[in-house]
Amino acid sequence: MRPHLGLQPRHSPCAEPVTHRLADAEGTQAPVCDGHAIAAREEVVGGRIEPL
Ligand SMILES: [Zn+2]
Repeated sequence: MRPHLGLQPRHSPCAEPVTHRLADAEGTQAPVCDGHAIAAREEVVGGRIEPL
C-alpha cells in the first residue's frame, strides 16, 4: 500500500492543489492532486478518479 494515494479520508492531503476526487470500490472518497490522481489511476482497482 502506498500512503500517498490518499484513500483515507483523514489522510492529510499533500501540498499540491487538489484537482481530482478519488473514490475506491467501497465508496471512500478523497481529494487528490494531479500527480496522485495519475498514480492512483494505475493502482486503484474498482474505483474511480473524477476531475473536479
Ligand atoms: Zn498529491
